[in-house]
Amino acid sequence: ALPGVGRKTASVVLNELGIEPAIAVDTHVFRVSHRLGLANAATPDKVEQQLHKIVPEAWLPKAHHWLILHGRYTCLAQRPKCPGCVISDLCPSRASFMGV
Ligand code: SF4
Repeated sequence: ALPGVGRKTASVVLNELGIEPAIAVDTHVFRVSHRLGLANAATPDKVEQQLHKIVPEAWLPKAHHWLILHGRYTCLAQRPKCPGCVISDLCPSRASFMGV
C-alpha cells in the first residue's frame, strides 16, 4: 500500500524480512521459470501465481534466490551456459540452445 512500491518490491521485502514467503518475479525469474517449464504465463504476476502453486511454501524464500541467481549467472538471456548447467538434464529448453 506504499506509494511507489510495486508488487515485486513488496514481495522482496516480505521475503527478506521473513514476514511472508514470496517469489518476486523479475526478468531472471520470469525467463528461467519459462525455460524450465515451471510456468508459462505471460505476465510476472501470473508466473508468480503459478510458482506459488508448485513450490512448497517452505522452499519459497530459497526458490526465489535460486531462480534469480541461476538466471543471472548461468541461464543468461542471450547465451545461456547450458553445457555447464547443473540442471540441464531436467530442462526442456536445453535442446533449443545446445542442439540436443
Ligand atoms: S539447460 Fe540451458 S536453458 Fe536450461 S536452465 Fe540450464 S542454462 Fe537455462
